[in-house]
Amino acid sequence: MAKQDKLAEYRRKRDFHLTSEPSGNKKIDGRKKNQFVIQKHDASSLHYDLRLQVDDVFVSWAVPKGPSTDPSEKRLAIRTEDHPLQYGNFEGVIDEGNYGAGTVMIWDRGRFTNLREEKEEDGASMEASLDEGKIEVWLEGEKLQGGYVLIRTQQGEQEQWLLKKMDDDKADARRNPVSTQPNSVVSGRSLDAIQKEASPS
Ligand code: MN
Repeated sequence: MAKQDKLAEYRRKRDFHLTSEPSGNKKIDGRKKNQFVIQKHDASSLHYDLRLQVDDVFVSWAVPKGPSTDPSEKRLAIRTEDHPLQYGNFEGVIDEGNYGAGTVMIWDRGRFTNLREEKEEDGASMEASLDEGKIEVWLEGEKLQGGYVLIRTQQGEQEQWLLKKMDDDKADARRNPVSTQPNSVVSGRSLDAIQKEASPS
């Protein structure tokens, strides 16, 4: 599928004269591979947008409760439209009246590896994993590290998935980064500070 097609829904939902979000039209350096970002998004309800680079877009899920480091916790993840790779650098405020209006923070980011691809008896690409509804990635973020599984539980217009920490040496039931590490990994700012700096009064 062409890049244009993958971002059609992203573009349809937004008016780039009105939103500060990237249009994804600009050519960017395609050499960076396997990036992930988690954006904390204080929209109509607070959630965490998990984005994994697959080819030249970020495949995306909205995780209402955010990720856990406890392998016994399952977190609902609602698939959302693919986002342009430029979105990984977006931190700021989406003005009132726009789709997803509210404050966006880069809560965590880094690289991932596709664990299924590394398994000799499996070998599934990210594209195949998405089709099958089973993704296994190893995250190397600033807050999150280790294996995470995404399992699709409901198909249709709004796919539902579950996000779960794998039980590996990075699992830690006592950690709770969503509450103890609330700020941006890029700027150190809180949601409040990002919001205030965008609209100084
Ligand atoms: Mn969002």
